[in-house]
Amino acid sequence: MATIDGLPPLRDVIATHGLSAKKALGQNFLLDLNLTAKIARLAGDMSACDVLEIGPGPGGLTRGLLAEGARRVLAIEKDARCMPALAEIAAVYPGRLEVINGDALEVDPLAHLTPPIRVAANLPYNVGTELLVRWLTPAEWPPFWESLTLMFQKEVAERITAAPGSKAYGRLALLAQWRADPRIVLSLPPEAFTPAPKVSSAVVHLTALPAPRFEADPKVLERVVAMAFNQRRKMLRAALKGLVPDLEDRLIASGIEPTDRAETVSLEQFCALARAVKAG
Ligand code: SAM
Repeated sequence: MATIDGLPPLRDVIATHGLSAKKALGQNFLLDLNLTAKIARLAGDMSACDVLEIGPGPGGLTRGLLAEGARRVLAIEKDARCMPALAEIAAVYPGRLEVINGDALEVDPLAHLTPPIRVAANLPYNVGTELLVRWLTPAEWPPFWESLTLMFQKEVAERITAAPGSKAYGRLALLAQWRADPRIVLSLPPEAFTPAPKVSSAVVHLTALPAPRFEADPKVLERVVAMAFNQRRKMLRAALKGLVPDLEDRLIASGIEPTDRAETVSLEQFCALARAVKAG
C-alpha cells in the first residue's frame, strides 16, 4: 500500500527491522499514519519551528510531523534497534530529521535546536510526566518551548487539566496551569496502539504563556502546593502547619479559610498564599 512519503507502512517497517515491542521501554506504537498526521497537526503550525520529538520508535509520529511541514525534527530515542528505520525517514527528508540515540532524561537537546521550538511526543507515561514537570519548571520563563503536544494516560491528562473541586485536581494541574494553557485535544482508545495498553490515552496540548497568570516565586509556590496536597484530605491549617508563623492570618489574607482543603483552593489563591508566605 502506498504511503504519503513513499516509505513502507509501519507494520512492514516493524517487521523488516525486528522492532517487537519491549514492555520495559513502554513501547506501544501508533501504526496508523492518518492518526499520526492528525496528532502532528494538533501541534500547530510547525513550518517555522524546530520540533523536538521524544521516543520516535519506528517513526509513525516523526513521519506525521515531517509530512505536516515541520521545519526540522530532532528525535531522541533510547532504543538503538529503531535507528535504521529512522535513518530511512531522514533519507526521504534531507536535512530535516536529526536522530539522537539516547535517554531523553539525560540528553540536553537545546544545542541541537533553533528557536522557535515545539515539542511533540508519544512517550511511556512515567518518562512523559517527569519530562513535563521539567519542562514546566525551568529556571527562566518563558521556557525554550512554545508548545508541548504530549500523549498521556487519560487519567494523567485529566490531572493536568483539572479544575479545583475535582478529584484529579492537584500539583500537576497547578504547575501546568500557572504558566501554560493545557487542553485535552484528542482521546484515544487502547486499540489505537500496537500492542494495546490497558488504559485509554489522551493528547494534551500546552501553550506556554508569556508570563505566569499570577505572580509568585516558583520555589515558594511549589513548596506550598506540595505541602498542601501531601495531605489533601486535611484542612490547610493542619496540612501547612509549621510552614510559617501566623499561618492562619496569612491564609485569610490570601482569601483562603484555614478550614479549606487543598482541593478547593484556586490557582489564584495558591499564588496569593505563596506571596504571603514569601513576605514573611
Ligand atoms: N512515537 C512512537 C509511536 O507513536 O508509535 C513510539 C511511542 S512508544 C509509546 C514510546 C517510545 O519512547 C518507544 O520507542 C521507546 O523506546 C521510547 N523511549 C522510552 N523511554 C525513553 C527515554 N527515556 N528516552 C527516549 N526514548 C524513550
